[in-house]
Amino acid sequence: MCIADNIKQLKNKIPNTVTVVAVSKTKSVEDILQAYATGHYNFGENKVQELVAKSEELPKDIKWHMIGHLQTNKVKYIAPFVSLIHGVDSLKLLKEINKRAAQNKRIIDCLLQVHIAEESTKFGFDVNGIAQVLKDIGQFKNINIKGLMGIATHTTDTAQINKEFALIDTLYNKIKSIKINTLSIGMSADYKLAINNGSTMVRIGSAIFSAR
Ligand SMILES: *Cc1c(COP(=O)(O)O)cnc(C)c1O
Repeated sequence: MCIADNIKQLKNKIPNTVTVVAVSKTKSVEDILQAYATGHYNFGENKVQELVAKSEELPKDIKWHMIGHLQTNKVKYIAPFVSLIHGVDSLKLLKEINKRAAQNKRIIDCLLQVHIAEESTKFGFDVNGIAQVLKDIGQFKNINIKGLMGIATHTTDTAQINKEFALIDTLYNKIKSIKINTLSIGMSADYKLAINNGSTMVRIGSAIFSAR
């Protein structure tokens, strides 16, 4: 099955209120162009260097999502063009994004990453930390918090995944507003569970581009 068919079929299965971010990490610009040719514009990468290189080669109307862990010293490379930063997980990072956004005369959209998985390796604020961050955010004039992002435990236990997605959905519903309207949960293996739990944005890699 080709990339164009994969993405079209996927979008047929997903409500059009849910934004699909095509996760193109490790995939070629040719692969990305096949998805782009179907009229798809949202792409996600998890490494700054790869994101910058691809953005330079590919059409300028692509909306680039930084979905991976972002190091403070690399914010400056993506600040001029990034569309949405998903994995914001510290005040230090928020401060740096704000500074670089201001230098570029931009307001950068961000999602706060919430730690929902059981694995201790996954990044993010804990659920109780989000309220405090939302209080502190007022000082950052060049950041627009659009919502929350989460990654469920890597497991086949759907009850566990459901529990984690329900947890972030509950938090999202508490803070939801006109400005805060994005819940980024769900990947190739668990996007249906995510959508059942209120996802408004899914990050899909292998189901579009095949296995990495
Ligand atoms: C790689 C990645 C995805 C996509 O994973 P698939 O299982 O290929 O759909 C989604 N989110 C993040 C943060 C990723 O790093």
